[in-house]
Amino acid sequence: MIRILLLLTGLIGACQHLHREGPQSLVVSPDGSRRYFEMEGNSFILFDVGSFDMEVRQLFPQATEKELADAGMNKPVIAFHMQSLYMDTGEQRIIIEPAGFNDSAQNLHRMLKDEGIPLESIDAVIITHAHFDHIGASITPEGKAAFANATYYIQKTEWLHWLEAKGEPAFLREGFRNSLLPLQEHVNFVDGEQTIVAGIKAVASPGHSPGHMSIQIGERLFYSGDSILQAIQVQHPEWIASWNLREEKVLASRKNFLNRIAENQGWLIGTHFTAPIGAVTRNDQGYLWTALEAKSN
Ligand SMILES: [Zn+2]
Repeated sequence: MIRILLLLTGLIGACQHLHREGPQSLVVSPDGSRRYFEMEGNSFILFDVGSFDMEVRQLFPQATEKELADAGMNKPVIAFHMQSLYMDTGEQRIIIEPAGFNDSAQNLHRMLKDEGIPLESIDAVIITHAHFDHIGASITPEGKAAFANATYYIQKTEWLHWLEAKGEPAFLREGFRNSLLPLQEHVNFVDGEQTIVAGIKAVASPGHSPGHMSIQIGERLFYSGDSILQAIQVQHPEWIASWNLREEKVLASRKNFLNRIAENQGWLIGTHFTAPIGAVTRNDQGYLWTALEAKSN
């Protein structure tokens, strides 16, 4: 695989500016679908397994036309990428979010194999919540665990909610029933804020779904799940998607998560972001997002 080296000057400049050590040795594949980096002694590959479009107006009904234009959202739709994180601690191989659905459900498997990482070598699969776009790669087309030797982790509240799925639309119920329910014997439940596996903690963030969790990796790397859908919501956490019915919880969880990142001088991976890695800082006005833009030389 040909890899393009990130312009190190940009990376170092960003780190100096923010006074925080972030992802090291970031390398981006030519097609932008893979980001390789090191952080706090662990190796990572962030896989962009596909994308789907969402209508901006439906997503951010609170935003004015000017605010949307200022944020660079001039088109009626915005791409939701699906970023799955692979982590190698030297002791364990972990997938955070087996993302994808329909045509993209198998993409993560193919990309891992391309990297010489057998699916059966994965020890842990961590799932932020049970919506279809976050769980499609959990399972094979034959209905078996895609990561046969892995323990799958999800919040107990989330699992119990989707077993019953009261009032939930059919397509969400089906996502759970098709991609997760058959894997019950592989699942370990997470209960609120706890260490999931060594070095990885759950940050409870209910709202987007009843048992949603975001993830803290080591001290200073964080993974959003859908507690933050797009980077603009770091600056505008009050912009709640029109289909998020548990608005107050979404906002409280989002602010709690953003605080946690800022207090730890942390870096965020946004599951659905286009430029998925960045720093979250806090000032008098609120929170700021600084993307770690990958540039090829
Ligand atoms: Zn999602």
